Amino acid sequence: MVDLRQQYSKIEKEINNAVLNVLDSSHYINGKEVQDFATNLAKYLDVKYVIPCANGTDALQIALMALGLEPGDEVITPSFTFIATTEVIALLRLKPVFVEVDPKTFCINPDELLKLITPKTKAIVPVHLYGQTAPMDEIMAIAKKHNLFVIEDNAQAIGADYISADGKKRKAGTIGNVGTTSFFPSKNLGAYGDGGAIFTNDDLLFEKIRMVANHGQSKRYYHDIVGCNSRLDTLQAAILNIKLQHLDEYILARQTVANFYDRAFENNSKISIPFRSSSSTHVFHQYTLLLNEVENPEKYRNELIDFLAQNGIPAMIYYPVPGHKQKMFEQFNSSFKEMPTTDWLTQRVFSLPIHTEMDTDQLNFITSKVLAFLIK
Ligand SMILES: *Cc1c(COP(=O)(O)O)cnc(C)c1O
Repeated sequence: MVDLRQQYSKIEKEINNAVLNVLDSSHYINGKEVQDFATNLAKYLDVKYVIPCANGTDALQIALMALGLEPGDEVITPSFTFIATTEVIALLRLKPVFVEVDPKTFCINPDELLKLITPKTKAIVPVHLYGQTAPMDEIMAIAKKHNLFVIEDNAQAIGADYISADGKKRKAGTIGNVGTTSFFPSKNLGAYGDGGAIFTNDDLLFEKIRMVANHGQSKRYYHDIVGCNSRLDTLQAAILNIKLQHLDEYILARQTVANFYDRAFENNSKISIPFRSSSSTHVFHQYTLLLNEVENPEKYRNELIDFLAQNGIPAMIYYPVPGHKQKMFEQFNSSFKEMPTTDWLTQRVFSLPIHTEMDTDQLNFITSKVLAFLIK
């Protein structure tokens, strides 16, 4: 699905230098590169604070811990997302309340969100799935009205612009109270190991998040609140400092691939190409197609994926089991509502390879094989 080796070879000298500098300094933890990266990313995102941490799941957990919620408080989030988003809610003894997504954008449907708000609702976690932002104007208006926190799970959309109704552009992850991201190697801004970050414009939340991520420490060996230990190591920060300089170019490369796929598939009645929202740019963490009405979509999709695999083409389902059907949430089952849109999408989505190093030959090969299967 990605080609990280070839991407590395293009920036090999810069990366090797940066890594050797860290080894030479031997400041493996909290070296200068970590603060530099936080500063550089804050500038890129145009956000006041960036707090680096160990991975994207920790970022979500720490953000939620910093809000001072009580056990049993309800957090509304999509069922149609990667498990990390919803898992941390249950881990903190909060209650995940699953909201339907819009079948076109794959992100939270604000009308459905409104229906789920109760006196126990304390926060909303929108996910900018596949690289396009959730409808933040609507989500923020609902949050304001009902006094709710908003934590944007921006693991898949770093660098995407949200365009408000008034034309104002802001980076995904900087609109809610807190934003979180992941630097897992295959993410759009990927490290060479694990990494994550939390963003906020709020002074008090910044202090709280920094403390939570560092054993609840206010000053050395004084621990005021229960926290955790979550750090981005210096080597990863050094690598990310270089890759951040290439992020816009990487996004453009992904968009070029997506445009190619769009042109190849736009007139095929069996599949729908990704919807492009007018309120967001799309950074195409995934290129996800939707099967239109075919008789048995899951069977048809499996046959398509097998056919592609026989031709050496990987294709993936993100995600085959939605949150409301995961065994880990059985304890909450009785309160889950039916989720027809999420179930419908889960049976029909599939993603094709997309990364920064794809060439026209590969794209021609992949699109010709997909089309060959669809006309059968
Ligand atoms: C990748 C991802 C995460 C978690 O990131 P890790 O760094 O793997 O912990 C969380 N949410 C979403 C939507 C993701 O895609």
